[in-house]
Parts: sequence; structure tokens; C-alpha cells
Amino acid sequence: MPHELPKLNYEYNALEPFIDEQTMKIHHTKHHQTYVDKLNAALEGQADLQKKKVEELLKDLNKVPETIRNAVRNHGGGHANHSLFWQLLKKDTRLKGKISEAINKKYGSYDKFKEEFTKAALGVFGSGWAWLVLNGKELEIMTTPNQDSPLSQGKTPILGIDVWEHGYYLRYQNRRNEYVEAFFKVINWDKVNELLSQKKVF
Ligand code: MN
Repeated sequence: MPHELPKLNYEYNALEPFIDEQTMKIHHTKHHQTYVDKLNAALEGQADLQKKKVEELLKDLNKVPETIRNAVRNHGGGHANHSLFWQLLKKDTRLKGKISEAINKKYGSYDKFKEEFTKAALGVFGSGWAWLVLNGKELEIMTTPNQDSPLSQGKTPILGIDVWEHGYYLRYQNRRNEYVEAFFKVINWDKVNELLSQKKVF
């Protein structure tokens, strides 16, 4: 079974005005689809690897033959990162429950967390992602370049923002700071809570 583009469980305009319909549509149907297609192309003829979930491949890239390792890292990473990202977006959810407690414990307050996460997202040079991950049981903010997944470093992403320009350029052009600010309005905290609660997320 080749990898497939997951369906969104909301409309492309559901996140307006924070993330616009056209960006969502192109991002999902063109950018994400291309990662899926190129991952499938890389895995062609690799029956054993084709059976594995993309998260499994990313967790242990050394098990992927060197000839296709970079393709799996880039396109498999793109597929996994975006599949998670779509689920992390929703309007009108509230920070509550375990993640609220965990953030307060680690960062002192939500505002302090937001400040640190924003700093990380604005600090990504070029294309990449900023993440809130579980490193063991500890929350940690980190960034990855390109489509690298925190899974490849043994960390479990529970929140992430795509700071590639394709994710915000149409509405925000060079103003990544405004996009990051808007992202905080559409975080699906229920999903983050769900990811935090699962002992083994992937
Ligand atoms: Mn993207």
C-alpha cells in the first residue's frame, strides 16, 4: 500500500482569517501531495520498507539504504510533518488539561511558553519547523531544518509550526512574525492534549 495524502477533517477555509483558504489548498494538495509522491517513488522496489509507517522509517533512518536515505528523510519527513500539522490546527479550542499544567510547570506561564516558541519559530533560518516535543517525559522546544523530523532525534513532536514560506507567503509575505502570531489562534489544544496523553505517540 503506497503512502497516501490524508484527508483534512475540515474545509480549506476553516482557519480563516488566520490561515487563508488558498494557502491551505495549495499547501495540502500540491506541497504535501508532492512529498507523498516522491516518498513513494523513493520506496519503489523496497518491499520491506514499503510496509513500514513513515514515522517508523524516520525514527531509524540508518536502516534505510544510503541510496534513498536522503529522499526518505526529506519527503518522508515532509509527509509525516504535514500529516501531523493539519491535525494540530483548529479554531476555538482552549488551552486546558494536562498540556496546560505541563506548560506552566516547564515554562512558568503560557505567555512565557509562547514567547519562547515564537523566538524559536522566528529563528529558523530559511525553511524548517519549530516544535514542542517530548524528550522522554520532558517538554522541549526545538527546531529542525528543511523537513527533518524530531522523530529522527528520538523526540516525539506534540505541536509544530511549518515556517516554510509556502505556508504563509500568500497572506503574510515576509512577515513570518504575523503568521506565527496567527498560528497561536488556531492551535488544536485538544489534539496536543491527546498526543501528550499517549504513552507511545508513534
Ligand atoms: Mn509545508
